[in-house]
Amino acid sequence: MVLLKFHGGCQEVGKSCVEVIGKEKRILLDCGASPNSGEIPNIENNLEVIVSHAHYDHCGAIPFYKFKKIYCTHPTADLMYITWKETLNISKAYKEEDIYRSLKSVETLNYYEEKDLGSLKFKLYNAGHILGSSSIYLEIDGKKILYTGDINEGPSRTVRSADTDIDEIDVLIIESTYGSPLDIKPSRKVLEKQLIEEVSETIEGGGKVIIPVFSVGRAQEILVVLNNYIRSGQLDAKIYTDGSLIHATGIYLSYKDWLNPKLKNTIESGINPFGDIKKADEKKVFSNEPCIIVSTSGMLQGGPVLKYLKLLKDEKNKLILTGHQAEGTLGKALEEGIREIKPFKNTIKIRGKVIKLEFSAHSDYNSLVRYIKKIPKPEKAIVMHGERYQSLSFAMTIWKTLKIPAYVPVEGTVIPL
Ligand SMILES: [Zn+2]
Ligand SMILES: [Zn+2]
Repeated sequence: MVLLKFHGGCQEVGKSCVEVIGKEKRILLDCGASPNSGEIPNIENNLEVIVSHAHYDHCGAIPFYKFKKIYCTHPTADLMYITWKETLNISKAYKEEDIYRSLKSVETLNYYEEKDLGSLKFKLYNAGHILGSSSIYLEIDGKKILYTGDINEGPSRTVRSADTDIDEIDVLIIESTYGSPLDIKPSRKVLEKQLIEEVSETIEGGGKVIIPVFSVGRAQEILVVLNNYIRSGQLDAKIYTDGSLIHATGIYLSYKDWLNPKLKNTIESGINPFGDIKKADEKKVFSNEPCIIVSTSGMLQGGPVLKYLKLLKDEKNKLILTGHQAEGTLGKALEEGIREIKPFKNTIKIRGKVIKLEFSAHSDYNSLVRYIKKIPKPEKAIVMHGERYQSLSFAMTIWKTLKIPAYVPVEGTVIPL
């Protein structure tokens, strides 16, 4: 019998971690940390783990443990280093030596490359979420399991959409970030148009636009959109960047074969689709010139973006949040309309406009349903990586409309297959 043990990522977006236990072998799928609390899953040392992608909620807990082996794609390995360093800089949760040890245990794979560990075999499909992101397909003691990780079945500016041409599946473990029927997002085209209109309005009014981003994925998407409009003459603005997104963008450029064909062609034709990335010159940013500042962190929980927030004292300037803002973050408070903040010693009175345009790298509800219809039909589905309402309502959809029994585990649940 195969057992699935859920260590985290149950009815929450954070600390994703599932243990697959067979007769002879066992392995972890992801080992993330919680973005709000920094909480990590409670697991043993000396396990093996397959990492779906380099986001903190999927790999953030790895340096806390000693792993025998860490399997992931080549770009994920490089991007994980950035994620771990970012955490180290903000919280000192672990030491540099822990990052060193973790990277030493990494074994990288290409998409579709079969890894044979005896009674357990696995391979990685493209998940369409960020550079190097993968869905994990594994066979253990005769059971075939697909763990989607974070997926995007729709189009993006940087990576190909998620693979759906997948081998037979017995059990599907699927994310549900936008799993409720209320989670229907505007199309990318509409969102991009809104972004450019909002940016142009501020720039034409002589103001500055601050765009906080997550360093891996969101940053590159936003930079490609802005630079596309600049190159086509539809936007006239100077972009400054700051924070670890600079390193992460370098990794995107290094792995052009892993990007979508259009972006790869742009790079091969000698154009940098992310624009001229260099550290912002603060004198210029704080001068009277209109400009765009793209900087980390995405929820304003730290990072260099904080020092630019004082620009919001001026009503000419604008803040554009580009992703989900977790409860308890400064980003969430600003989204909800707080007009006084204190990121450092001094209080800042917000007079500039604050808006949110959610450039998600996840499938929305309709796209998740489409995904399940496209892949081979599993015998059962397990729903994780979503808030309680999202997970429960997506499980209901899977059962009612797709006729597949679906479960929503809580932390500690063990499901026998
Ligand atoms: Zn992710
Ligand atoms: Zn995630």
